[in-house]
Formats: sequence, structure tokens, C-alpha cells
Amino acid sequence: AMDNVLERFQFYTPSLNSQVSHRLQMASQLRQAVQKHELILHYQPQVSLDSGKIVGVEALLRWQHPEKGMVSPLQFIPLAEETGLIVPIGEWVLRTACEQGKRWHDMGVHGLTMAVNLSAKQFALNNLATVVRHALDDSGLDSHCLELELTESASMETPEKSIEVMQLLKSMGVRLSIDDFGTGYSNLNYLKRFPVDQLKIDRSFVQDVTSDADDLAIARAVIALARSLHLEVLAEGVETLGQYNVMKENGCDKVQGYYFSKPLAVDDCTRFLLEHTKA
Ligand code: C2E
Ligand code: CA
Ligand code: CA
Ligand code: CA
Repeated sequence: AMDNVLERFQFYTPSLNSQVSHRLQMASQLRQAVQKHELILHYQPQVSLDSGKIVGVEALLRWQHPEKGMVSPLQFIPLAEETGLIVPIGEWVLRTACEQGKRWHDMGVHGLTMAVNLSAKQFALNNLATVVRHALDDSGLDSHCLELELTESASMETPEKSIEVMQLLKSMGVRLSIDDFGTGYSNLNYLKRFPVDQLKIDRSFVQDVTSDADDLAIARAVIALARSLHLEVLAEGVETLGQYNVMKENGCDKVQGYYFSKPLAVDDCTRFLLEHTKA
């Protein structure tokens, strides 16, 4: 048995080492990515089901890696969180998104909400409100145009502290949205006390909403929950007319997804916004 263990150990060591060194290399590259301007934001439109108009965009991070090309946030956000790099990166995201929101406002795209993802680490920072305040002041973006997306799990880690931070952000006029709703463990008691404006139905429930009765039931339940708590509700990952119709028929407020648009590079999004907001 011992021989077996040693064999396995030796067998796995090289690949384990290479995994570790790959991660170390990625971490050091990520550390430089901000200074080297390799991080960019794409923006995905959010559409009101009432008016059919674009009412917001979500800023989504991309890494233009010199060798790997466009790297998805799913491949580096976890690493950024473990290394603490998410803090400076997140601040860059916040500032850049606020500046772009202001630029679009100045181009005549008014009343657009700029949604920015916050990681649990950022949410736990003691100076989050100050960082947000500076991003707003320096960009000149109206605080009511900024929406911060928090995941359920980030909010539930230390719920009492979350409520305080949320209240502070609300007092500044910032909108708050609970991201990936339904995927974490929802404590409805706390949800009731969170001063949030919106729930985002996770894509995993939207995907099969036209064919899976359980997913449809969940989507309906989240919409009803939002209604009764006087919250807005947005369905993410809407790809088809069928999914769009289900959301509309069931009283969802907004949708976001490939059916309307993929996340767009800034210039493409500018064109999209100007086309769709022209009188
Ligand atoms: P998320 O916040 O749930 O963002 C939605 C994800 O769904 C985005 O993936 C978006 O491109 C994708 N998506 C939107 N519509 C559709 C659709 O119709 N079909 C499909 N299949 N996918 C759709 P993305 O951009 O790869 O981002 C993945 C995750 O990375 C985000 O999930 C978010 O958790 C995280 N992330 C992205 N940007 C940031 C950031 O600036 N800060 C932090 N902390 N996390 C970020
Ligand atoms: Ca999000
Ligand atoms: Ca989401
Ligand atoms: Ca999601």
C-alpha cells in the first residue's frame, strides 16, 4: 500500500508543481496587467421589458493577454481574489466604469445605469464607501446612475456588517443589486433587511425556462419575491425570444443577454447605445 502511495505521489508531483508554477506565473502577469493596460471593460446592455429601451449596462472585465488573447474573468477572477489583486483591479474597474458612464451621459445617453460587479473581498473592505465616493467624484457620474452588484454569498458572510455597508452606499444614492440570485443560500430574513434595489435571476434558471417546469417555477418565485419586497428584478442570460417572452409574461422588469446583445467593446457599445436611444 505504501508503495502505491509513493508511486501516486511521484506520479502527481510534476503536474502539481507545474500547476503551482503556472498559477504563480499567472499571478505575476495579472499583477502587471493593470499597469500595462491589458485589462479592459466590455459592456452588456440591459433592456426594460416595459419600454423596450436600454436602461443600463453591466461592466464586464476582460484581460487582453499578450500571448493567450482575450481571457475570460472566470479564468482569473478567482486568482485575483486569492491573491488580493481583486482590490486594486476592482478599484480600477469601478473608476473606469464610472468614467465611461459619464462619457455616455455627456454624449446624450441619459438615465443609463452603470452596473459594476463587486467581489466579496471588496465588499468586506473598510474603505469601500470612500473608494466609491472617489470614483463618483472624480468621474462626475451621478451616484444614482451607479449600481453595485453583490453576490448573495458575499452579502451573507457577515450579514449585519453588510447591512451597515449597504446603508452607507444607499445614503450616497448608489443602487444595489443582488447578483446570481438563487444560487447562494438565501436567508429571506436578511434579504428583507438588505436595502437593495434589485434581484438578478441567475442565468442557470433562465437557460431552460421554456422547457423545464422547475426552472420556470423558480423564475416565477423570484419575480414574485421581488414584487412583494418592492424590488426590481432582472433576468440575466436571456438568449432567445422564448425566454424573453416568459420573462415579460411573468412580470420581470428587465432582461440582459445575447438575445439583445453580447457584452460589447466600448466603441461598439457606444454605437449600440446611440442607435437605440435616438428619438
Ligand atoms: P456575472 O456577473 O453573472 O455576469 C454575467 C456573465 O454572463 C458574463 O460572463 C456575461 O458575458 C455572460 N452572459 C451574458 N449574457 C449571456 C447570455 O445570453 N448567454 C450566456 N451564455 N452568457 C451570457 P463574463 O463576462 O465571462 O463574466 C463572468 C463572471 O465574472 C461574472 O458573472 C462575474 O461574476 C465575474 N466578473 C466579470 N467582471 C467582473 C468584475 O469587474 N469584477 C468582479 N469582481 N467580477 C467580475
Ligand atoms: Ca454581475
Ligand atoms: Ca449575474
Ligand atoms: Ca450569473
